[in-house]
Amino acid sequence: MIIVMAKNATEENIRRAEERVRNAGLKTHLSKGDEVTIIGVIGDKKKIANLEMNMMDGVEKTVRITEKYKLVSRDFKQTDTVVDVGGVKVGGGNLAVMAGPCAVESYEQLLEAAECVKAAGANFLRGGAFKPRTSPYDFQGLAEDGLKLLQRAAKETDLKVVTEIVDKDDIDLIGTYADVFQVGARNMQNFELLKALGKVNKPVLLKRGLSATVSEWLNAAEYIVAGGNENVILCERGIRTYETFTRNTLDISAVVAVKELSHLPIIVDPSHGTGRWQMVAPMARAAIAAGADGLIVEVHPHPEKALSDGDQSLKPKNFARLMEEIKELNAFMRKHYGEN
Ligand code: PEP
Ligand code: MN
Repeated sequence: MIIVMAKNATEENIRRAEERVRNAGLKTHLSKGDEVTIIGVIGDKKKIANLEMNMMDGVEKTVRITEKYKLVSRDFKQTDTVVDVGGVKVGGGNLAVMAGPCAVESYEQLLEAAECVKAAGANFLRGGAFKPRTSPYDFQGLAEDGLKLLQRAAKETDLKVVTEIVDKDDIDLIGTYADVFQVGARNMQNFELLKALGKVNKPVLLKRGLSATVSEWLNAAEYIVAGGNENVILCERGIRTYETFTRNTLDISAVVAVKELSHLPIIVDPSHGTGRWQMVAPMARAAIAAGADGLIVEVHPHPEKALSDGDQSLKPKNFARLMEEIKELNAFMRKHYGEN
């Protein structure tokens, strides 16, 4: 349930309303907007049903949230969440672009990628150091050595680092080098990992599971936010369908669905979403036109030599061209549709 406070509610009204909720053995989650203040009520359904709030001073109304996810829902918070990654903003009409190789392979490879994505206008360097590969015989990543290379290349090019975490025991290690923890599709419902990431004070990029519904995905985000970490960025990366021409079926409509259902920012991964580099730019443009807050794109200086996902990696010159297009497209979207 959420309690919507009246526009003229005083601090004392808010304090008393929160106190009543807590006295009933329930948890509160305060969200103060410019216009209205909302108190989220979380806990036992029966206790919530018995809670009488409507007659309290300063309370305008109470609204039941029927979905299982609450804190991430648009009902709970109407305004778009903007995740601030050390000064780089994700959400609210800002264009966030994360780019770089699928996997960190060497310093030379990474620096070349970092320099070109920075020059083209990206704000994050991506690259996996812990790779969840389908086959145990495939390249598994450079682990901590890879993290060190990421930090070094990102520092030299003034980019933020986003990298995947596959094990909750690696939180401290990865947190030392990364600005954003990426939870990959295969771990979207690794609930112990999600709970642990709820306790960190760094943003999380939560990719959609290979066969997850939008509702399951938002429930996964709820785990992180319910733990206390409100800085979650969602990422649509394609889902499994019967189609085999593409690696996955990129669900652009999920961008619109998430914007309706949640206040969290959403970016799109056209690389894993298609598996084919030729399709990356058209789908990236489609994502921005649909209102996405940004992109995560695989870029490799020499895709033919890539140790993973070369087929879906853009060459630097193609990425630079795409950036020009989407900057213009994003400006158009802002002008005509407001904050995406
Ligand atoms: C990746 O970003 O390299 C990756 C493994 O993505 P996903 O989890 O979406 O497959
Ligand atoms: Mn990849």
